[in-house]
Amino acid sequence: MTGTAGITGNRLHRRWIVLAFLLAVAALAGTIWHYGVRQALDQLSRRAEADLELASDRLTTQLQVYQELAVLMAGHPGLDGLDDPGARIMAKGLLLGVADTPAALDVMYVDRTGAVLVSARGLLGNDLGATSYFRRAMQGALGRDHGVMQPLNRRAYYYAAPAFAEDGHVRGALVVVADVEDVEWDWRGSTPAVFFTDQLGQVFVSNRSELLFWTRAGDDAGLVFKDGSRRQFSATQVGVHEVWTIDWGPYLPRRALHIVQDLAVIGLVGEVLVDVAPARRLAGLQAATVVALCLAFGALLFLATERRRALAQANAVLETRVAARTADLSDTNARLRREVTERQEAEAALKQAQADLVQAGKLSALGQMSAGISHELNQPLMAIRSFAENGAKYLERGQVDVAGDNLTRISELARRMGRIITNLRAFARQESTAAGRVELVGVLDQVIELTGARLRQEAVTLVYERPAHPVWVRGGEVRLGQVFVNLVSNAVDAMAGRDDKTLTLDISDAQALTVTVRDTGPGIDVPDKVFEPFYTTKVVGDSEGMGLGLSISYGIVQSFGGDIRGDNAPQGGAVFSVTLERWRQEMAA
Ligand code: ADP
Repeated sequence: MTGTAGITGNRLHRRWIVLAFLLAVAALAGTIWHYGVRQALDQLSRRAEADLELASDRLTTQLQVYQELAVLMAGHPGLDGLDDPGARIMAKGLLLGVADTPAALDVMYVDRTGAVLVSARGLLGNDLGATSYFRRAMQGALGRDHGVMQPLNRRAYYYAAPAFAEDGHVRGALVVVADVEDVEWDWRGSTPAVFFTDQLGQVFVSNRSELLFWTRAGDDAGLVFKDGSRRQFSATQVGVHEVWTIDWGPYLPRRALHIVQDLAVIGLVGEVLVDVAPARRLAGLQAATVVALCLAFGALLFLATERRRALAQANAVLETRVAARTADLSDTNARLRREVTERQEAEAALKQAQADLVQAGKLSALGQMSAGISHELNQPLMAIRSFAENGAKYLERGQVDVAGDNLTRISELARRMGRIITNLRAFARQESTAAGRVELVGVLDQVIELTGARLRQEAVTLVYERPAHPVWVRGGEVRLGQVFVNLVSNAVDAMAGRDDKTLTLDISDAQALTVTVRDTGPGIDVPDKVFEPFYTTKVVGDSEGMGLGLSISYGIVQSFGGDIRGDNAPQGGAVFSVTLERWRQEMAA
């Protein structure tokens, strides 16, 4: 539960971090965008100012031509004495020629009352007395005005220059009417959108014809359509810059930087609308680049952290597993060690039990042989006694030679008894050493000597071709002797009461080294069972049969790496074969 809660908490924590990072990136992008827009607007505004300046210069320069024409022509001598109709015709020709040069709509000369004396084209009627530019000229200054000239319905810019009499009085005025359309003709459609508004706020000149005659709304800086209807407009201040958001047709930008320049010379205000889309695009690009870089960096960082976290997690899992496995292993180790100790103890106990059993078997065999042995010892003892008694008598008679003879016989008999007792002691000795190098013929000699008394007692004929050379085998001298003593004893037991009692001992040196003990008894009842412990066909107590002799022998021979088998011979009787390992030099190592 704690682990799951930890993982969920971690995930939540990571989500917050990612969210915070994204917010920071968004904030950074916003700042960069804002800054970028400002920078771009600054640049744009400088360019727009230059553009507006250029457009204004163009307009003023072009109008200047008409102004200069008016001023120059006002003092023309051809316009003197126009009361004379002939002079008027001459003057008309003059004005017509002048009007054609800069393509003025009309050029005319008016007298002090405003009456048109001569007109190049006669478009403005006969009386200009009410016009502002005329009245200004009558005051001795340069009059100018603009408006739509009827009936041609053309936008016109008027210049009225005073004509002075010799005494210095204003005697009339020369009026030049410039065609505004003609002036703006050659810069129409060029970018950006420039327009010039008059004192009333009406667009009078523009390179975007759709804007003409739009009027500035009273409450804000926007324009209203010439029929008075409003179009979409809003103005925002970005730093020192004014940005208009408009929807005024396909030839005007949606978002535009608005710049104004006052042109007092021609009585108009120049305004320019520059598309800010490129500026915004540039700023957007900058912001997007920064965002992309930040996101890429963030993603890399995130991936690296995730990777490190995953590794740490995997490590932790691995460590837990290793710890668990180590604990398991230590447990298993401890258990194994315990088991090994137990097994060693059990083995030691088993070994002890086996040794005890071997010893018990040996003692049992000794018991069986005790009658024969005591007879064997008794016989020389009796003989010694009679030799000694006779010896004493011979000494009394002075027959020292015969007495010495007797003593020699006594010594021989004592030596024989000593040998029997040595054999018995050796047989009874508990052998604790492992299997080693043993001379088999010698062992069999001892067995024959130990069991000799019994064989003679039971009148058993021993057939044994004793090999002349030593035969070395792997085993223990005492234990091997015990095995053969047991086999010989069993054979003697089996032949009890038989007419033919022949015990054949044989050492076959053919393929394997095998010693066979064959008797002429009734044979084995159940050959498969004879090596089982406590299997006996003898009456317990009769000849002290315990059913352990063969099983002990089996264990002993196996421990020497050999084998023991019991079979019935074809001609009758039992055959026990003991196969032993021949002693080889490398066994010593
Ligand atoms: P025990 O001699 O005390 O009975 P053993 O283990 O020496 O125990 O022998 C087990 C049995 O094997 C004997 O009781 C006997 O039936 C059988 N047996 C052993 N040797 C012979 C033999 N030479 N001939 C017939 N049977 C034998």
